[in-house]
Amino acid sequence: MKNNCACGSALPYHACCSSLHLGHAVAACAENLMRSRYCAFIHHKIDYLVLTHSIETRDSISFSDIKSWNDSCQWLALNVVNVISGDKETSVEFVAWYKQDGHLKFHHELSTFKKQFLDNDFKQSLQMDVLAAQVWFYHSANYPTSTVTMPKRNDHCICGSGIKFKKCCAK
Ligand SMILES: [Zn+2]
Ligand SMILES: [Zn+2]
Repeated sequence: MKNNCACGSALPYHACCSSLHLGHAVAACAENLMRSRYCAFIHHKIDYLVLTHSIETRDSISFSDIKSWNDSCQWLALNVVNVISGDKETSVEFVAWYKQDGHLKFHHELSTFKKQFLDNDFKQSLQMDVLAAQVWFYHSANYPTSTVTMPKRNDHCICGSGIKFKKCCAK
């Protein structure tokens, strides 16, 4: 479990999201992109987070803001709640758990992903030729009214380790 890629696959990072982060592959579907973006926070691949942000909304984010926020976070777990797939647009609802200043927090988001034409910045970052004209991009976020609750000390840990929270991520 510990050696598996943080995106939730059964593969190690070097055989999984690393190829996306290094531009040797593009995400096959929106959920794949979402998981690889979570993993990019953990591996500090801020460039990847910027490049996979839709050109339509990329101006709304900044490399330095993402970097400084991410540097203050310790990521613990990703829980994909729901995926509503479409040909051009897909919604992915997820809960990402992290610690900041010693406090357990969660980020509950309903993300919209869109299939769009490759822009030049993203194209130039790739170490491969993409045959498909369009690829998946992260487009925008909505924040659902969350019913997620903080784990109690004796609950199963939020990271899925199977052991009690107090003996796992609470430490
Ligand atoms: Zn992965
Ligand atoms: Zn845990």
